Amino acid sequence: MSKSFHPPRRLLMGPGPSNVSQRVLDATARPTIGHLDPEFGAFMEDLKGLLQWVFRTENRLTLPVSGPGTAGMEACLANLIEPGTKILVCRNGAFGQRMVAMAERMGAEAVAIDDEWGRAVDVEKVEAALQAHPDADLLAFVHAETSTGAWSDAESLARLAREHGCLSLMDCVTSLGGIPVEIDAWGVDAAWAGTQKCLSCPPGLSPVTLSERAAQRIGERKTPVQSWFMDFGLVMSYWGGEGGRSYHHTAPVNALYGLHESLLVLQGEGLESAWQRHRDNHQALADVLAQLDLEFLVPEGERLPQLNSVRLPEGVDDAAVRGELLESHGIEIGAGLGPLAGKVWRIGLMGETCRVESIDRLNTALGQALGID
Ligand SMILES: *Cc1c(COP(=O)(O)O)cnc(C)c1O
Repeated sequence: MSKSFHPPRRLLMGPGPSNVSQRVLDATARPTIGHLDPEFGAFMEDLKGLLQWVFRTENRLTLPVSGPGTAGMEACLANLIEPGTKILVCRNGAFGQRMVAMAERMGAEAVAIDDEWGRAVDVEKVEAALQAHPDADLLAFVHAETSTGAWSDAESLARLAREHGCLSLMDCVTSLGGIPVEIDAWGVDAAWAGTQKCLSCPPGLSPVTLSERAAQRIGERKTPVQSWFMDFGLVMSYWGGEGGRSYHHTAPVNALYGLHESLLVLQGEGLESAWQRHRDNHQALADVLAQLDLEFLVPEGERLPQLNSVRLPEGVDDAAVRGELLESHGIEIGAGLGPLAGKVWRIGLMGETCRVESIDRLNTALGQALGID
């Protein structure tokens, strides 16, 4: 006979999900109401306002896509790509590669601009690619590459896109709430995030925002968006609120309560204070890692505070150490992906997890697992 599932308590120090506070968990346990209930409509408007606040944008087209970060990525690409659209994709890790794969499936002509895994996107290379492809329509990049821990210069990339007549698409799944994200000031045209990284919500929603230029481009499409579910024109008949709301799909009501609450928590702390907390704790972690003789993958100046990739020391068993951390200490850290599998560990300091106590616990546990006491 199956029984109720009671998950263990973990300290989530991997690439996401991060720890969720009791306050946010409690919010998700409030009564489910109808997604067309007038009270829910008012709640949705408030949530939209909070999303505009966290994205630092006035974009009308700002909403949580019902699905994880990958769904937000797919939705933005699907709405802006038509067969034959030319998209330049910066590829310096797993998520850049994911965008190339999606764009190709949608019938785009995708051109990858490659950088080594572990490095930020090379802005000069992107400028050269934009010059070499004057017919490009879109430029896509990952602000915070979670597969490596590299932090790219989103502001310069968005500016270059604009100067070359391209719309800019930014993955800010891991950056939002952890480092500065400035949609309007940088002029980013489409961006998507996730709830389970620095916003510290349960996974399953993807806040997205699109500029007026992007909305106009979608309006001028010659073919319908290839995905009915993700067609922003249809989704906005529910989220837009103008002229009433009509059913498109059932909104994940309780998950949205959690997102709303987590944004209130962030507002209470202040966005700049949260960025500062991530910077400070990254420094504290870097000191601990140096004492444990662990080296960063990403060069200084390109490192994300919230995702720290370190090289495995010579002769250390990757899975055994991660297993010991989990089983003996209740701590999850991330393994390497793709070409970095077995070569690095990914230590997350995202949102709720980003506290001095987390670093202290990891210090003790890693010291024991590596036999350096
Ligand atoms: C986690 C992540 C995603 C995918 O989000 P899911 O919620 O796992 O679908 C996309 N891009 C980046 C940079 C991420 O870190």
